[in-house]
Amino acid sequence: MNLSTDVSHLKGVGEKTAALFKKLNINTYEDLFSYYPTDYIKYNPPVSFSELKAGNVCTVRGLAANVQGPVKAGRYSIITVVLKDGLNTLEAVFFNQPFIKKVIKVGGYYILRGRIVQKGAKLIMQSPKLFKEDEYAELVKYPQAKYSLTAGLSSKTISKALKAAFIDAQWGEECFPEKYLKESGIPSRKDALRLIHFPECDEDIVTARRRLSFEEFFYFIMLLRKNKAISVSTPNNFKMIETAETKRFLESLPFKPTAGQKKAWKEILDDMCGERCMNRLIQGDVGSGKTLIALLSLLLAASNGYQGALMAPTEVLAMQHFKTVKEYISKYNLCFEPVLLTGSMKAAEKKEALSKIESGEANLIIGTHALIQDRVLYKNLAIVVTDEQHRFGVRQRQALAYKGKEPHILVMSATPIPRTLAIILYGDLQLSAIHELPAGRCAIKNAVVGTSYRPSAYKFFKDQIAEGHQVYVICPKALSDEEDDGELENVVDYAEKLRAALPGVNIEHLNGKMKPQDKTDIMQRFSKGETDILVSTTVIEVGINVPNATVMMIENAERFGLSQLHQLRGRVGRGSAQSYCIFISSKEDDKIMERLNVLKSTNDGFKIASEDLRLRGPGDFFGVRQSGEFAFKIADIYSDSDLLESAGNLVDEILKDDPSLSKEDNRLIKEQVDYFFAHSELFSSI
Ligand code: ADP
Ligand code: MG
Repeated sequence: MNLSTDVSHLKGVGEKTAALFKKLNINTYEDLFSYYPTDYIKYNPPVSFSELKAGNVCTVRGLAANVQGPVKAGRYSIITVVLKDGLNTLEAVFFNQPFIKKVIKVGGYYILRGRIVQKGAKLIMQSPKLFKEDEYAELVKYPQAKYSLTAGLSSKTISKALKAAFIDAQWGEECFPEKYLKESGIPSRKDALRLIHFPECDEDIVTARRRLSFEEFFYFIMLLRKNKAISVSTPNNFKMIETAETKRFLESLPFKPTAGQKKAWKEILDDMCGERCMNRLIQGDVGSGKTLIALLSLLLAASNGYQGALMAPTEVLAMQHFKTVKEYISKYNLCFEPVLLTGSMKAAEKKEALSKIESGEANLIIGTHALIQDRVLYKNLAIVVTDEQHRFGVRQRQALAYKGKEPHILVMSATPIPRTLAIILYGDLQLSAIHELPAGRCAIKNAVVGTSYRPSAYKFFKDQIAEGHQVYVICPKALSDEEDDGELENVVDYAEKLRAALPGVNIEHLNGKMKPQDKTDIMQRFSKGETDILVSTTVIEVGINVPNATVMMIENAERFGLSQLHQLRGRVGRGSAQSYCIFISSKEDDKIMERLNVLKSTNDGFKIASEDLRLRGPGDFFGVRQSGEFAFKIADIYSDSDLLESAGNLVDEILKDDPSLSKEDNRLIKEQVDYFFAHSELFSSI
């Protein structure tokens, strides 16, 4: 079978499983192979009861001495099994699993795996999983891949399908020079895929990632270079002159722009009034005031009689920008005629917005990717500003660029990346960096703590809420799934836990799996102050501005990259009140704490990024959630920076020798690049 064969041809994959695969966008063998594990579970041999530690997920083997319950407690029906291991005892607590009563017999030996928690003076095991002896012995041998799932599907089913696919898949030829791969220690694609799904040890995962990350970087950079080739010689089709409007706006602001803002604005002015089309990136830490620069650029276009577009990665952000702009217009009497265009708008509203865009009545268009759909016709689009740009694909950026007559492009990013990497990633863009924050900001107070700190944190939430403030809590997972071992907190259960701990407090939760309209509504309620605590995944990471929120608490902080934690922290400290950030680590080993403590010692995003680079070895933290801004599927710009560099070098080498990729040696690369160009959605994540 070739790689584009439908998964329904796989042995053991029936109609039902195939339908579930489709839900995860797994249609072909290729899709299945590139459905990478999100994590690996390491099943350790059982430990003796005396070695148990609160907070850890452990496996024990013990003699069932007593089975109590079920006892009703609210929505739960609780069964407690008392296990013995020599003289020590351990209580294992099962929630809503009535069958346990039938399965576990007093006098038998059982293997249980679950999280150990402190309850009063003793340790208990919470919601454990029960294993058969021989089944567990198998699991202990190798790291077990865990996948992002949908209801009704298990990681085991995915692994089984993968095993079948490896047996009958026909692999294509190698696309990279064999010699190069050998010298760089990069395995073939087939080997890499086998290792990523079925590793026998940690090194296998590292080896696999070398190939898969390299490949991802390679094509990303290749597409960037192609983009550059197109844009580098573009003349300025929309030459502007500096108007009184932008000067007046700057002078009437209640604050003075920072030196970085001034410099960035000057560079933009020079570009837009100069001979060539602008293609510029503004890199500035969270809160450095990038929005002002965007507005100035858009205002320059509007006052020159042109249209400008501001594209945000989410509806919530687009709406927030729209609101900010409207406030600015009424406060400073700016010459903007703004319209909002998002996917979830009603048909009639959309129609009206579209007609205003086409007629030129609107000179500032704010929206999500709805802005680049074919139906949107612009009268004279002169500049496109994208906020938090990495969420958009190279192609999307290009598509929008071609809607007009090659407008100026300004992209804003809050991910500070070291210069060497920036040059590789943004070879096609001019760079403006804003290094300082506006003066007078109150520094955020930080705490890096273990899970035992939670009760104090909850009390602190209460006090802050009583003072009229709001709280964010971030969890790494959206929902619990069947294979949950309790190691990672999920938004839904956590919100429930908080409601129990903080009666009378208004708590809502938000995750990326919700409908866009629901997400927007929840965010809106939080924004208006109707919700006290918002429990969310990192969907709120980018750009959201709720100055009244003063506390950010991040659960499983050890699972996030430092840069991403820094971004999340940037959601507080936006108003005049003192703000706080609490990083909770479920593991308290020295290496993890050292890494997290970097956040306590500095608030400089560039410094944090380079520490992230230094403290994270390749493959060190496979489960670490990567910065959402650079949504590479597997590669990580920080821990894989060496691969990023070598991919950049290989791209340059190949293009130098064969700029149009027309040589036979590069045929496969060309095919792949053309394929990505034709299927922009494949690259929409980067
Ligand atoms: P980001 O760079 O993260 O997008 P924003 O543009 O949202 O930051 O700005 C954060 C806040 O700082 C806004 O409330 C904005 O009005 C304010 N701000 C921007 N520039 C300055 C400045 N030079 N002095 C004081 N406050 C500023
Ligand atoms: Mg912003």
